[in-house]
Amino acid sequence: MAIAENIARVQERLAAAARRARRHPDAITLMGVSKTFPVEAIREAHAAGLRVFGENRVQEFAEKALGVSELVGAEWHLIGHLQSNKASKAAEIFHAVDAVDSLRLAEKLDAAANKLGKKLALLIEVNIGGETAKSGLAAGSAEFAQLLQAAERLEHLEIRGLMTIPPFTENPEDARPFFRRLRELRDATAMRRLARVRMETLSMGMSHDFEVAIEEGSTCVRVGTAIFGERERP
Ligand SMILES: *Cc1c(COP(=O)(O)O)cnc(C)c1O
Repeated sequence: MAIAENIARVQERLAAAARRARRHPDAITLMGVSKTFPVEAIREAHAAGLRVFGENRVQEFAEKALGVSELVGAEWHLIGHLQSNKASKAAEIFHAVDAVDSLRLAEKLDAAANKLGKKLALLIEVNIGGETAKSGLAAGSAEFAQLLQAAERLEHLEIRGLMTIPPFTENPEDARPFFRRLRELRDATAMRRLARVRMETLSMGMSHDFEVAIEEGSTCVRVGTAIFGERERP
């Protein structure tokens, strides 16, 4: 019950932010980040109309997958850092990998998707704040360019856009320049019209800053706490 109310409240805030930016709310996907929460919570969110879910660990979702397999129309995204040795499992259980941060990982995912006879959607994770402790490719890096170039031969992958987690700030306004920078990178990349690269998705914004992210062009907000409640600290 609480989850349905939370979703309704988040959707109102999402729509209000879209209106401020003169954007259509339907252009923004609300992803429910269900990591650490049980299958029952996911079912509740699905019953309330949520269809796109984000999990950050392969093993955790592998354990939940059976319990959510009958949820019609649900789409599962891996949003956490993926180690190459778990690429096959990830390709098997997720529709999309939203935090691809190396060419080597993209190649592993392509091979795994090929074996499974499926197409895997992916986003390139960009370390927009240049933080040493965070994963993601640097915006102007050689590897970012190489990954985009490689898309042409990675035929089992569909590159759909970019994802970022900006440096944490108490005041969500302080994240605005980072969101803007990701949007500018997306636009500049889209202009290059690279083969087999779509640059539509901008996955940015979490519980505390998703409204600012929407004002800066986000097309997918990843919301955990504001939907499912506080997570227990490990
Ligand atoms: C946990 C997580 C989120 C959700 O964070 P909240 O602050 O709980 O909304 C979003 N994106 C990623 C990559 C995450 O790991």
